[in-house]
Amino acid sequence: MSGSGIDAQCIGAHAVEYARCGWEVFPLRGKMPAFPNPHAEASPERADCKGECGLDGHGLFDATTDVAKVIDWWSRRTWNIGVRPPATMFVLDVDDMEALVRLEAEHGSLPTTLTTISGRQAGGRHFWFWHPGGPIRAKVIPKAIETKTRSGYLVMPPSIHPISGNRYRRIDAPVAKPPRWLVDLIRPPVPTLRSAPRSAALLSGPRSWGRSPADDFNAARTWAEILMPHGWTCLGNDTEADGARWAHPAATAKWSATLRHGLLFVYTTSTEFDSTDGAGTTKGYTKFRAFAVLNFHGATESERMSAATKSLIARSSL
Ligand SMILES: [Zn+2]
Repeated sequence: MSGSGIDAQCIGAHAVEYARCGWEVFPLRGKMPAFPNPHAEASPERADCKGECGLDGHGLFDATTDVAKVIDWWSRRTWNIGVRPPATMFVLDVDDMEALVRLEAEHGSLPTTLTTISGRQAGGRHFWFWHPGGPIRAKVIPKAIETKTRSGYLVMPPSIHPISGNRYRRIDAPVAKPPRWLVDLIRPPVPTLRSAPRSAALLSGPRSWGRSPADDFNAARTWAEILMPHGWTCLGNDTEADGARWAHPAATAKWSATLRHGLLFVYTTSTEFDSTDGAGTTKGYTKFRAFAVLNFHGATESERMSAATKSLIARSSL
C-alpha cells in the first residue's frame, strides 16, 4: 500500500474508463458511499431527494457516466469505485463459495462470464449476467448467495478492500446469459391460485351476461400463474405475450409450447397435454383447460375439465 499516488491514479483511471464505457460510477470510502448526505437530519429532502438538488451525497444515486464529474471526484482523493449495475444486467453476489459449489453440483456449472473477485480474505465473487427480465429476488441463499441489481451497487476493481488491503480483481469475459436453473432460482415464488383474491363475482355477475366460469377464469388468470407452479419456465421476459415460448420441467428440447392468440400450443408428447386432436392437428389450450389438465385427475380431458369446473364453482360460491 505504499505509493498511494500511483494507486490514486490507477483507481481513478479505471473509474474514468468505466464511465467512458457507460457504467455509472460513484466514489466509495471502503465499501460505503464516500460523501455524506447534504441534507439536514429529519428534513424531508433527506428522505426524498435522490440527487435532484444537484449536490453529491445521495449514495448510489450519485452514480454517473459523466466523465468530467468522475475526473473531478477522483482528482480529489483515492476513492474506491462503486458501480450501479445497468438495468440490463444483474450480479450474482457469492459470499460463500462452498454454497455455489453445492449449487453447481446439483444444477451444472455457471457459464464463463465477467467476474469480479473481492479483496476480502477468501474473497467472494461477483458474477455478471444479462438480466432475464421481470422481478428477481435479492436473497437466493441468505448471507451466502444474493443478487444485486440497479437498486444496489458493487465495489469494482481495482478498488482496495478496506480490511485486507488487497485489490478487487476482475476476470474479463463477455457478460453471459444466466443458465435456466439460475433464473428459476432467482425468481420470486409464484403466488398460489388459492391465495388469489378472486371471489364470488366470478360466477354471479359475469355469468348473467352469458360468460361461463371458464371465461372468467381465462380473463382473470395469467399463464405464469398456471404453468409456473408446475415447473414450467418461460424462455423470454413476457410470460403472457403472443409468441412467448414455454418449456416444461422435463423438457429436452429448447421449448415445448408457444402462446398464440392467447392459447397454449404444446408441441411435445411428453407432457400431461394431449398435443394433437384426433386428426393430428396441433390444438390450442385455453388457460382454464390447461389448468384442468395440470391440476385435476381424470381418465380423459373432459373428465378433468368437469372436475375443474366443479371445483371452480364450489370455490367461487364461498
Ligand atoms: Zn439532494
